[in-house]
Amino acid sequence: PPPAGTRRARAEIDLGAVRANVRALRGYAAGGAGLMAVLKSDGYGHGAVPCARAARQAGASWLGTATPEEALALRAAGDTGRILCWLWTPGGPWREAIEADLDVSASGRWALEEVRAAARASGVTARVQLKADTGLGRNGCQPADWPDLVSAARAAEVEGTVRVTGLWSHFACADEPGHPSIALQLAAFREALATAARAGLDPEVRHLANSPATLTLPASHFDLVRSGVSVYGLSPSPEVGVAADLGLRPAMTFSASLANVKRVPGGHGVSYGHTYTTPGATTLALVPTGYADGVPRHASGTGPVLVAGKLRTVAGRVAMDQFVVDLGGDSAQVGDEAVLFGPGDRGEPTAEDWARAVGTIGYEIVTRIGTRVPRVHV
Ligand code: PLP
Repeated sequence: PPPAGTRRARAEIDLGAVRANVRALRGYAAGGAGLMAVLKSDGYGHGAVPCARAARQAGASWLGTATPEEALALRAAGDTGRILCWLWTPGGPWREAIEADLDVSASGRWALEEVRAAARASGVTARVQLKADTGLGRNGCQPADWPDLVSAARAAEVEGTVRVTGLWSHFACADEPGHPSIALQLAAFREALATAARAGLDPEVRHLANSPATLTLPASHFDLVRSGVSVYGLSPSPEVGVAADLGLRPAMTFSASLANVKRVPGGHGVSYGHTYTTPGATTLALVPTGYADGVPRHASGTGPVLVAGKLRTVAGRVAMDQFVVDLGGDSAQVGDEAVLFGPGDRGEPTAEDWARAVGTIGYEIVTRIGTRVPRVHV
């Protein structure tokens, strides 16, 4: 039986798979590029600290997070290597970050000015990576403002408050290989690098590639690839490929133990709204996990689950804490395991199967697994 405290539902994380994925991704990295393992959102739901340790063991030279708090938590857990955090808002913990030896990102002058002020206050030279918007249209500095940002950063280097350690950007459509924006972004990134060089910047690392670009576009690898979802063994998109064919192994298995099994007559409504009615006398099994744990609510009739050796689908609406599976003529015992997703080699669905079934991406399926679900690292 599953360990006490995990009997209702659990997410088992195979750290050997994380290590193997990191090694596989390092094999993809072109021309000696290093690997930054992206650990934001609690390691895409897999547990940031144990996954960081596994990624380091397998040779990740950098870790990356969105928020400074996520990066500070990795430091507090004992990671002493290079860590970049990129999602800043005014008044953020710049001083804590630079005193913890984190690399911080700046997408505009306001961020550079805040980091300079923090560096002056603490007497530490801040390591700053400048982010260019090469076409994503999200964070990053617009081309029109880039010359001003790089010269201000160079002035801060001369003043001694800042060391520009990186120049970087992020793709919009790398998960659709051949998309016309990919070549345009690559060209814009090269242009941004040239402008920065003319301003006198000579950073340690230049990086652009996320998982899909790591897997499909060596020309984008520069000094570092920044891989997230693939570290956890998921393919970024069906267009990029199937995880196993890419040499990746899904690390998370999400399962629960049946909390009720009962016979009901035909015509019996199932769960809120009675969106499912039993077609005849049948056996219903209760899976004690629901949308509060990250199971998509609109999975009725589509969400796949392995119960009693067979693939079934969610019957009726997923509720906050539970949903029902119709076993038809089969039987099962209370306490039997229901597997929602895993690597797929026991016949269970994968997170990518769930993504397809409910119209989203694997990223959302794994990162939404809630905090009430214990992570068991093996
Ligand atoms: N770099 C940045 C800036 C990101 O926001 C992300 C995540 O979306 C990644 C890299 C990693 O992307 P992926 O999970 O597709 O590898």
